[in-house]
Amino acid sequence: DPLMYHQGEKVLRILIDQGYEAYFVGGCVRDELMGREVHDMDIATSARPEQVISLFERTVPTGIQHGTVMVLMKDHSFEVTTFRKEADYEDHRRPSRVEFVDAIKEDLQRRDFTMNAMALSIDGRLIDPFGGREDIAARQIRCVGAAEERFEEDALRMMRAIRFASIFGFKPVKSLWRALLIGREKLTFIAMERIRAELERMLEGPHPLRGLALIHRSGVINYVKYPLTYELPLRQSYLQTLEMPSLKGLEKRLYLLLRGVRMSGDDAIEWLKQWTFPNRIAEQTTKLIQFDEQWLAQLVIYEAEPKEREELRKAWISLELAYGRATTAAWLQCHQALLQSLVQAGSLVLEEEQLTVAHLHKYLEQASKWHDEMKVYELRDLAVAGSDMIEGLGMKGGPWLGQLMKQLLERVALGKLNNEREALLEYAKDVMNQDGI
Ligand code: ATP
Ligand code: MG
Repeated sequence: DPLMYHQGEKVLRILIDQGYEAYFVGGCVRDELMGREVHDMDIATSARPEQVISLFERTVPTGIQHGTVMVLMKDHSFEVTTFRKEADYEDHRRPSRVEFVDAIKEDLQRRDFTMNAMALSIDGRLIDPFGGREDIAARQIRCVGAAEERFEEDALRMMRAIRFASIFGFKPVKSLWRALLIGREKLTFIAMERIRAELERMLEGPHPLRGLALIHRSGVINYVKYPLTYELPLRQSYLQTLEMPSLKGLEKRLYLLLRGVRMSGDDAIEWLKQWTFPNRIAEQTTKLIQFDEQWLAQLVIYEAEPKEREELRKAWISLELAYGRATTAAWLQCHQALLQSLVQAGSLVLEEEQLTVAHLHKYLEQASKWHDEMKVYELRDLAVAGSDMIEGLGMKGGPWLGQLMKQLLERVALGKLNNEREALLEYAKDVMNQDGI
């Protein structure tokens, strides 16, 4: 975004004109060098926070105790942090105290990896005291300084290393890997939430399997409680689908991961909440797992003794009504990707269900069509409300009403009843006369 650059340069210019040093630093320099999209630009300066505040019209003291002030420009904001070093790491977590320093180099030295420890001056000069550019070219991750010490100071850096390796497809250098094996148990000091945030970014990146493999191979898995227990063999079909770039959305990716390690819907909701995922994500993921379990079970039964196609349609529609349109649509997207991934991998069947790719393909097309053709999804889509029904039938409300409405919804969804007031009332009267629910 040229506008962001322009406004960022303006911030640098204002600081420099006042006699301070100021640079772009960290992720934006790295991403720029890698040819990746730059999403935000951090700035480091020799000016103290109160001086930064005094120089700009609009600022927010977002992390003033760590020397960070957010400067708001026309359409973009910039985190401006005073050159600092860190001290007093407690319990292998981020420092409780920072100390301001005078030189950019000293500031870069506190940063985690060489690729994150570069600065760019306003005239385009790269300040790269630890060889970040070379490591990027060699596609490797290296700590600034002695890896073992850096992980000892702040154990989260181990998860960050794995996350960056996963997202960029980089390799940890030997010294970093060794330090990871030595330091991994310190991850138990890190809050679940922060580890989860790293896992989340990994999952949403382009190569989650790479990150998962590193978590396993390094033994880090034993210290991050991910994902508690799982049964071998893994379901490779689901895990492999994590590498499909088309599939966006955290709940879909978690669904593939958890199905891949054979976690049941019941266990999943517990695990996801324990892992501090937001309730909404936990619930959506769980619904996807349950939907999948139930639908595959239907397919297996159907394959064993083929019945009328209509039976299968009924099963789909009642599942869709039970789980809702959003879950069903997300499931369809996941399985489109899953099929593609099976084909790419040259697999012919879906693990233990033994459904062939050809059959899966056929069922998926069928299901998509049923999904598209549905005209109602919830009670409020019906042309009559519960209150109309009470009035129309001249009866008092009660449990019968809910059952009746549900039955109407199913009939309409199946296309056996028109979604019109008269038709619905008529049908309701018949039902009530026949068996009175
Ligand atoms: P992105 O935001 O794209 O994930 P980033 O490099 O900007 O990548 P942030 O977490 O935003 O990552 O951190 C900004 C910078 O702060 C990093 O580039 C790094 O220099 C430094 N940094 C962040 N976390 C740590 C840490 N735990 N230890 C040392 N330095 C860190
Ligand atoms: Mg960042």
